[in-house]
Amino acid sequence: MPQILLSAGVCRSVPLDSEIEKLARTLALKNALEHGGKAAFDAVISKFIGSRPDKRAEIKSLIPEIKAVVQAVNAMPAAEQKALLEQLAPGELEAKKTHAESGPRLPPLEGAVMGSVVTRFPPEPNGYPHIGHAKAAIIDEEYARMYQGKLVLRFDDTNPLKEKLEYYGAIAEGLKWLGVKPDIVKNTSDDISKIHELGKKLVEAGGAYVCTCSQDKIHDLRAKGLPCECRLLDHSTALDRMGRMFDGSYEQNQAIIRFKGDMADQNTAMRDPTLFRIIEGAHPLLGNRVRVWPTYDFAAPIEDSLDGVTHAMRTKEYELRNALYYAILDRLAMRTPVMIEFSRLEFEGIPVSKRKIRPLIDNGTISSWDDPRLPTLSAFRRRGFVPEAIRKFVLSLGITLAETKPPFESLEAYNRKVIDPTSMRLFFVRDPVEVQIEGAAPMEVTLKNHPTDASLGSRKVRVSDRVYIAGEDAANLKAGDEVRLIELYNIRIKQIIKQEGGKVASIVAEVGGDEIRQSMPKIQWIAKNDIVEFKVMIPKELYIGEEYNTKSLEIAKGGAESFAAALAPDTCVQFVRFGFCRIDGNNTAILTHR
Ligand code: ATP
Ligand code: MG
Repeated sequence: MPQILLSAGVCRSVPLDSEIEKLARTLALKNALEHGGKAAFDAVISKFIGSRPDKRAEIKSLIPEIKAVVQAVNAMPAAEQKALLEQLAPGELEAKKTHAESGPRLPPLEGAVMGSVVTRFPPEPNGYPHIGHAKAAIIDEEYARMYQGKLVLRFDDTNPLKEKLEYYGAIAEGLKWLGVKPDIVKNTSDDISKIHELGKKLVEAGGAYVCTCSQDKIHDLRAKGLPCECRLLDHSTALDRMGRMFDGSYEQNQAIIRFKGDMADQNTAMRDPTLFRIIEGAHPLLGNRVRVWPTYDFAAPIEDSLDGVTHAMRTKEYELRNALYYAILDRLAMRTPVMIEFSRLEFEGIPVSKRKIRPLIDNGTISSWDDPRLPTLSAFRRRGFVPEAIRKFVLSLGITLAETKPPFESLEAYNRKVIDPTSMRLFFVRDPVEVQIEGAAPMEVTLKNHPTDASLGSRKVRVSDRVYIAGEDAANLKAGDEVRLIELYNIRIKQIIKQEGGKVASIVAEVGGDEIRQSMPKIQWIAKNDIVEFKVMIPKELYIGEEYNTKSLEIAKGGAESFAAALAPDTCVQFVRFGFCRIDGNNTAILTHR
């Protein structure tokens, strides 16, 4: 019996002589490797039936076994999944490789050695992850995989006033959804003692000092490029102050530790920047035990070096701080990673930054982090974007420094490509108008759920002589027009009945011919006895210039087929002539994109 390495590193026998199990395992591995390491049970089942239609009748009894196979596969790290697929179906992996090569790819990494690259993604748990984080995390992960190295997820939690347990969880969940699988997960706060030690060492070596000047004074002297008296104190006084910094003698804002840089440096980031400050506040993981917290400037290089990071990537706005990053490690004689920059991801009209999103949530303009107008991962997910599309989009951007904002439509195009083949085509009519069709005999029609994929099934609808069409379509009709009700029949308009003010109240029509002419409008409809009140949220640009767009969330009210209204939340559909939507629950969907 073959031995299969499971994720825990344990060898366990698996009865591969069972042909069924072998097929399920191969399909699950393939699906997992195509979708960031996680196979979808439904996809595996449908592929299974596709390969073994003879087993369709007994599929129910096979489900528990296949489910167990999928779970086992999903618990494996990607490298093991690959190795096992190679063992089970050698050809498949090659096919997968060429597939990946056809998609967008990143350029080689400077000085990278196969097998020893370590990258890291260091989010601060002070908010929900957004599409900018997706860019950073995906690039970090892709490079780790490209060189068979490791990805470290490090929660950069050094400000107890800003971090919340909720945000650690939200970040982990966002990454999981994206299919980003870190090899190591840790917190900067885990290393707080080491960071303190290194800070003390720096002061002892004369490379840093305790400054008790006011913030205004520090600011002023920094602007003038002049040192303060704290910098000039003798060594024993400096050490004494450091002792007091750590023993709790100073209050918040009374003292900071500053790097001894160069107060006259052209690069203002080198003008004795802050390395530690006192923050009174309960840290989500360490409580009140720690009062002296490192700044990002100190923690980032120390942690990167301690974590064995070989390639540290960050966004371009930190460019001026690179000199400081290297200087700190140099002064402590610590190993230095290669620093690589890429541009921040921003979209026109959508602020991609916690700094800009948080105020909207804090002041109640937006009620939750997954509001579909936001660029958070939870919002993208709720809107119906899929991780695969986000990854392709991010990789298509590459790691250039160009500051151009990519068009949002480019992300939409990647998503459309992924969801188009699997989204059911259903009818939604906005601002419905009733049409009475004279001479229409009651009938039952079968509507295909997808034009080309029969496996998405069909639905039966009973139609009498009354249907609803969209208000906008009704407004464009006049007596004598002939239109096609999609997949039903043609109708000829006899009379348009208008309300006061000119809006169409209802329409009288009769059954028309059967010929579908190119020029004829083809419109969606819903049988009167099948319509369910339904609405679609349409997210728009949050900002117009610097102004919050008060019309950023449009609600399209109307009706959907009862079939659509009964779909489970999370289902992606295409409302014909309206757009791709994700069912959100409570007879509401969210427009993903057109
Ligand atoms: P924010 O402005 O949202 O607070 P941040 O950079 O302070 O952004 P962090 O949680 O500290 O947020 O970021 C973690 C990592 O994600 C960093 O390496 C940062 O460079 C990267 N990152 C953050 N925002 C973007 C973005 N818009 N585009 C690309 N990378 C980003
Ligand atoms: Mg930050």
